[in-house]
Amino acid sequence: MDQEKIGKFISSCRKEAGLTQAALAEKLGITDRAVSKWETGKSLPDASIMIELCNILGITVNELLTGEHITMDDYKDKAEANLLEMRLKVEQRDALLLKIEKIMIGVAFPFYVAMVLIGAYVCKEGNILLGILLIVMAIFLVAVLAATGLKIEHDAGYYECPNCGERYQPTMKAVVMAPHMGTSRKMTCPHCGQKGYHRKVVSKNKE
Ligand SMILES: [Zn+2]
Repeated sequence: MDQEKIGKFISSCRKEAGLTQAALAEKLGITDRAVSKWETGKSLPDASIMIELCNILGITVNELLTGEHITMDDYKDKAEANLLEMRLKVEQRDALLLKIEKIMIGVAFPFYVAMVLIGAYVCKEGNILLGILLIVMAIFLVAVLAATGLKIEHDAGYYECPNCGERYQPTMKAVVMAPHMGTSRKMTCPHCGQKGYHRKVVSKNKE
């Protein structure tokens, strides 16, 4: 998406509607600084405000995201291009999240093991309170790490059934309960009902 083009388009539509930046801002209940930021291409309107903005300017959301008026002829092409780009952004975000999860586990796990070992050593040396505190902290951190990891694995991307190839997002409960190897989880496919190890994939569609 071309933020500068979108900004110029918002500016020209606003002028066509006979509104100043301040008047448009007041209608939307935001600051005129925010409007100015859109028009100079520094930011995009929040999704929450986009529909109302488009209503005021008399354009469609799709036109806003494309940064120009769209005739019916090329409407479908542009709509598909915009959808595709949004999906690509989600996929990039998911791929990044899964990478972060791997790094988190790789870096944090040895650290926690060391904490437990140091805790045990401190206990043996007579400082039982400090030792137990270290071990409890390590267990707590592992729990936080595991919960964060599970949430990422549930939210980001899809699981693929090896039997029918269906890609789907499982329930949080299914993710938590499933035995796993790496990021593959043993789950029941919602499409064909077969149990198996389902591989984590970023994209809903096969390339
Ligand atoms: Zn299946």
